Amino acid sequence: MRRTAAGWLMLVLLVFAVLPAAAWGPGGHAVIAAGAAVERGIVFPSDYLLLQVIYGAAAPDLAWGADEPLKGALGVATHDSPGCFKPWQLARSWSTVERFFAGGWVSHNEEWGADHYAHTEYPLPTAASASRPGYVVDRAGALAVSQGISEEIAHYYIEVAIDLLVDQQFPELSLGSMLASASYQRDGRVPPLLAKSYRDVPGASGIGVRLLETEFRASLAVYGETLALPTGSDDAAFAAGMAILYGLTPQKSASCLAAAKAMCQEPEAHYADAIYATIDLVAATPWP
Ligand SMILES: [Zn+2]
Repeated sequence: MRRTAAGWLMLVLLVFAVLPAAAWGPGGHAVIAAGAAVERGIVFPSDYLLLQVIYGAAAPDLAWGADEPLKGALGVATHDSPGCFKPWQLARSWSTVERFFAGGWVSHNEEWGADHYAHTEYPLPTAASASRPGYVVDRAGALAVSQGISEEIAHYYIEVAIDLLVDQQFPELSLGSMLASASYQRDGRVPPLLAKSYRDVPGASGIGVRLLETEFRASLAVYGETLALPTGSDDAAFAAGMAILYGLTPQKSASCLAAAKAMCQEPEAHYADAIYATIDLVAATPWP
């Protein structure tokens, strides 16, 4: 099916209504989880199981689709210890699908997982790394200053910029299509596992968790499909959608996205180095 530019724009708006600033975007999480699994010597018996890992790696951010106060409570439960390990602990030992999904989920956490190196600890061994925040926050700070936008808005642009760069510079990964497939092929055992893990969070319920997961799943499919557009059209679709969401002119939004991509390719702070370093750090952590 051929979509019009306006159609894509509507879809991108839908995505960002559900996927607000996370840390790494879904693409960054996918690459870090798959890379850490490979480093830990985990073999994927099938593409289907790899897709469950990728879905699990992105899915903790389903919490950000909730309204407050559930959003905050579920965000803590899905990202911080000990809640972030719940699906890992509750995955049934004989269910390969649940274990692979939960493995992806654990790679995301804020304690020592991918989000920790996006927010809190700079993953690259530079001279000033001790005084720098995590990679995404560090780049967002620089982008905010250079473009005269808030750090919060800059954070969104950095996330999308990194996913666009991975998709465009590592075409062999087919990152956009892979994210969309991870959504389409998310196994039916995932929602009950998540409901069981988080239904006791204050303000949540089993059905509430399932609804958030459904919204998240839909938005991940659209995000992946947008990323899978031909190079240039993907940048344009994201820039147009983000302009409306963040109250920027289309020109300003496009220049923020271009600047974010440039900032993530500075030799001293290159996104690929940050991702590789994060993979090493996450893989080297003793997993629970
Ligand atoms: Zn997150």
